[in-house]
Amino acid sequence: MLIKGASILQNGELKKGLDIQIIDHKISAVGRELQAPERNDLIIDATGKLAIPGLVNGHTHLAMTLLRGYADDMELMPWLQEKIWPIEAKLTASDIRAGVRLGCLELIRFGITCYNDMYYFMDETARATREMGIRGVLSGVLFDMRPELLAEVEPFLRRWKDDPLIRPAVGPHAVYTCSEETLLRAKELAQRYQAALHIHLSETRDEVDSFVNQSHMTPVEYLDALGLLGPRTAAAHCVWLTPSDIRTLAELQVNVIHCPTSNLKLASGISPVDRLLDAGANVCLGTDGVSSNNNMSIFSEMKMAALVQKGNRGPTILPAAQVWKMATQNSYRAFGLDIGLAPGSLADLALIDLSRPWFSPESNHLSHLVYSMAGGVDTTICNGRVLMENGIVPGEAEILEDAQRSFERLTAS
Ligand SMILES: [Zn+2]
Repeated sequence: MLIKGASILQNGELKKGLDIQIIDHKISAVGRELQAPERNDLIIDATGKLAIPGLVNGHTHLAMTLLRGYADDMELMPWLQEKIWPIEAKLTASDIRAGVRLGCLELIRFGITCYNDMYYFMDETARATREMGIRGVLSGVLFDMRPELLAEVEPFLRRWKDDPLIRPAVGPHAVYTCSEETLLRAKELAQRYQAALHIHLSETRDEVDSFVNQSHMTPVEYLDALGLLGPRTAAAHCVWLTPSDIRTLAELQVNVIHCPTSNLKLASGISPVDRLLDAGANVCLGTDGVSSNNNMSIFSEMKMAALVQKGNRGPTILPAAQVWKMATQNSYRAFGLDIGLAPGSLADLALIDLSRPWFSPESNHLSHLVYSMAGGVDTTICNGRVLMENGIVPGEAEILEDAQRSFERLTAS
């Protein structure tokens, strides 16, 4: 495949008229006047388009896209007890397929080529994700309320460990829903299979206060004592942290997945992202599930991350380049992805139509991507496969119809 005449941001500067040559799953060359690798190869005209490396959504529950707009503006416990849990009890494998395909469709439309998920029915999730063609770091959620889920983890890790797109992981839900035994078993499995460990950490003040009252240590101290924190750990939220928690997360190279929209919508609080970054922590971005967002866009999340920190700490905090790095390089490091617009990198990228008004005038495209982006991703490529071209994703109508059918079945009284 050859992408002709793209614009690319290099060290914050826009370089025009560059070609990107792709062979199989990787970028083989970036430069001027390149040739298609084979005579009949696909050639994509990228004149007037910006090529960006594929973005990563670092924390979500993708099948929950089915519940978009179903229950908003509620307190956490009534929201869970009256709305979310009764629906989740009715979920079948075909609902998961419908929700995951809808979610992947949205990720593709937002230029995201990898997501980190924690939910139920992970084999169905993995199959639907692979079919849609994007990368998934997937973990079945573990709760002590559902002890049978633990037995599914190891077979899932074995089944998917060699898949080119699916990275099976281990997902203990949180310290307040998993016993020490479950957490240690999760750690052991993650270590044995060299898998990522995905957990919610210190999300709400109540959760942290009651944990500290009971155990006389913070959730971060507790996970550290159990040996669950390290460079393969993705810790979602990290809102309520002590200065010593911040140092620990940075020193142990834990990947902090910041989800500012969800934290605001659920009134969980504001994560001390600036202090985490100052301490050297690897901070990435995630949307969380759509019930608390309500979409999968990392562009929205970048803007939200920057604005929340500025509102809280001052306008110079979290400049656009730093936020962009959170959604790209930091996330690639977190999930071991060799993504970038350079020879040898995975062919995961998106093309954005620069003729949209929010990219004009041509001044500072990094700023435009973070602060003014309001659409225009028109081509998304993952692992060398074109998933959307000129705004068209094959099969989109059927995916939307399936999602509607599942939603109606799940919410019928
Ligand atoms: Zn979550």
